[in-house]
Amino acid sequence: MKHKILIANRGEIAIRIIRAAKELGIPTVAVFSTADQHALHVKFADEAICIGASSSKDSYLNATAILSAAVATGCTAIHPGYGFLSENADFADMVEGALMTFIGPKAQTLRLVGDKAQARAIAKAHNVPISKGSDGIVNDAQEGLKVAKAIGYPVMIKARGGGGGRGIAVALSDDAFLKAFERTSLEAKAGFSDGALYIEKFIESPRHIEVQILRDQHGNLVHLFERDCSVQRRNQKMIEESPSMLSDIVRRKLFQSALKMAKGVDYVGAGTIEFLVDRQENVYFIEMNARIQVEHPVTEMITGRDLVKEQIRIALGHPLSFKQRDIRVQGVAIECRIIAEDPRHMFRPSPGVITNVVFPGGPGIRIDTHLYPTFEVSPHYDSLIAKLIVHAPTRLEAVKKMRVALEQFVIEGIQTNIEYLYLVMHNPEYIKGAVDTGFLMRFHTLFEEANA
Ligand code: ADP
Ligand code: ADP
Ligand code: MG
Repeated sequence: MKHKILIANRGEIAIRIIRAAKELGIPTVAVFSTADQHALHVKFADEAICIGASSSKDSYLNATAILSAAVATGCTAIHPGYGFLSENADFADMVEGALMTFIGPKAQTLRLVGDKAQARAIAKAHNVPISKGSDGIVNDAQEGLKVAKAIGYPVMIKARGGGGGRGIAVALSDDAFLKAFERTSLEAKAGFSDGALYIEKFIESPRHIEVQILRDQHGNLVHLFERDCSVQRRNQKMIEESPSMLSDIVRRKLFQSALKMAKGVDYVGAGTIEFLVDRQENVYFIEMNARIQVEHPVTEMITGRDLVKEQIRIALGHPLSFKQRDIRVQGVAIECRIIAEDPRHMFRPSPGVITNVVFPGGPGIRIDTHLYPTFEVSPHYDSLIAKLIVHAPTRLEAVKKMRVALEQFVIEGIQTNIEYLYLVMHNPEYIKGAVDTGFLMRFHTLFEEANA
């Protein structure tokens, strides 16, 4: 069969997917909003179709418009990227209903793991460790309060449909719990059209460690080791690395848990199982992301495998092109998310026109981006504008390489976090490694003091 892929996304990930498809000899169709008519993904695809106005809900979340574009251009498959419709089970159903291939897991799997409370229950049923918490969602604040009292403060209140670090709150007392519960429920209703919440014990100073897996339609399953994504602000990742600095015993435990989870939900495609690891190296499953992840490049650098190509091949019915024993870790990779935001003002977004951009280069440097001079960073979308990834034999060499690369990365016209990242790369705690999820807030306090 002659394949043709529509990419239902924008920005760096749309370009990343176009590249993978081109290397596989598959033509691509880009979709774009009116704000993105001059975007690079539009230029790089073989064809491009405008699907609506700037606002995401009129364009990149407009399932009908996207599906019509795919039908009109004779596409055989749709790659949803990350964010937007990537984990939307109804969209996956619509794609399959139109006799096209959804490049991702089955709609049924998306439904299972998209409900984070249910994903916890599945983990428990498969002996994957979870933190104490509610069995499924809690029906109201009083029921939540009972759970909170039973497991003990601090607790975390989490939206079942949450994502992107949103719909999460910590509570330290009964009073605070009740307030946070109402607030989070409203936020979740507004953000995810689903106000349902569940409760988890708050894990103190954990590391966020996630495992990349691939499973084909023939049941072949592999993991591609782990990523440490502990450098976060507001529960959102900023810097990721692979491998982590955990002991091999814990790493093996994480891999085994991730494989159990993937089998448990009959996963197909590229997926990520996220865990928290506390100071005693106890492991807790938190969620499964049923899509390609923003930070997938660090795994590609250390394993030398192309995850997006593999994802496409799997969707087209091919068996995995390698076995577990073929996958080795070489060196250390670090990714910095370059974001159009101002770290001096609460990381507020900084949209605008790029007047100049100079990319770093050299051995072991990779940049995934959609930027070019005169491109306008729109306020309508995520403020991620580039990913800078370095690969070196050791972590310290990777850190040093990242410093040089950040120093030579010039973006003019808007505020970015480049200088901030450069300072993180010189922080003694970061250099030592194995930081917890509270690190960036500690760093930020120092940063603000230095800038006061
Ligand atoms: P990753 O784990 O791949 O880093 P992120 O949590 O950073 O994923 O999310 C990737 C992208 O998807 C971001 O642009 C984020 O804002 C968006 N995103 C993730 N989940 C949701 C969701 N449930 N609703 C809206 N946007 C989401
Ligand atoms: P999202 O769907 O938004 O990605 P996650 O459930 O993956 O949400 O959690 C995002 C981040 O929030 C984690 O990486 C971690 O830093 C923090 N977090 C989530 N659950 C807990 C918990 N139970 N205890 C402590 N921190 C947590
Ligand atoms: Mg997560």
